Amino acid sequence: MENINTYKQLKKYESKYSNIRNIIKSIFIKNSNSEKFFHQSEYIIFPFWHHVFDDEIESFTSQIKFMKNYGDFISYDDAINLLKMGLKTNDKYFCLSFDDGFKNIYENVTDILLKFNAPCVFFIPTSFIDNRRDDSGQVFFNNNKLKINFLNWKDCKQISTNQIFEFGSHSVNHKIFTKLSHDECYFEIEESKKIIETNLDIKCKHFAPPVGIFSQERDLDLVKKLKYKSLSTTVRGKMENKFSDEYLIKRHHLLAGWEISYLKYFFKK
Ligand SMILES: [Zn+2]
Repeated sequence: MENINTYKQLKKYESKYSNIRNIIKSIFIKNSNSEKFFHQSEYIIFPFWHHVFDDEIESFTSQIKFMKNYGDFISYDDAINLLKMGLKTNDKYFCLSFDDGFKNIYENVTDILLKFNAPCVFFIPTSFIDNRRDDSGQVFFNNNKLKINFLNWKDCKQISTNQIFEFGSHSVNHKIFTKLSHDECYFEIEESKKIIETNLDIKCKHFAPPVGIFSQERDLDLVKKLKYKSLSTTVRGKMENKFSDEYLIKRHHLLAGWEISYLKYFFKK
């Protein structure tokens, strides 16, 4: 099994089809007019990533620098309060998160975010923490020849000593919720919260369903019943006054290696 440490390594396993699709997308994005991004009056943008591999550190830093020029970094709690109160004209914020709990958060991400004083929620699937599973390649990259390292509880504990960082739940097993029964979903949502709170001695307040797939009736109800304060989706868009439901937070998925033209392109939506 190959252990993934660089994006270059991961790219090798990309299908020809998705390779070509990415090239076309990149040409389209670089040539599209993204001026609209600069003319928006108020927003909270929730960018999220999965990984910052060793060969993505430089471009990830550029992305954070870019955001700092166009808004303030705020925590999930502050973002939720602002959405409830209503944004004022020219209020521009970024609220960051990471899904999946890969080890490179500890190795490559937290130092950069500390330098920019950028709060972040790390959504973790608890059964993968401490590298307790040997099917990470299959679950996260759809390829059983790969594996990736995860944070351990000691890393998480150390990260959580910084006030600007929080841990949220990304379920226990990272299974697709719409394929699970009510009781299985209840377990994924409740048990992950308990595990995080016990191991880290913190409140686990925020939830992000695996792959952003969930039932708006059943699972959203469970997330509210189990006292989470927010649910983060993978639907692209910004949060603004006319769309301010903290249980349907829109987030922009980013690859840390992307050039700034991608950010301007997506953030204008
Ligand atoms: Zn995930």
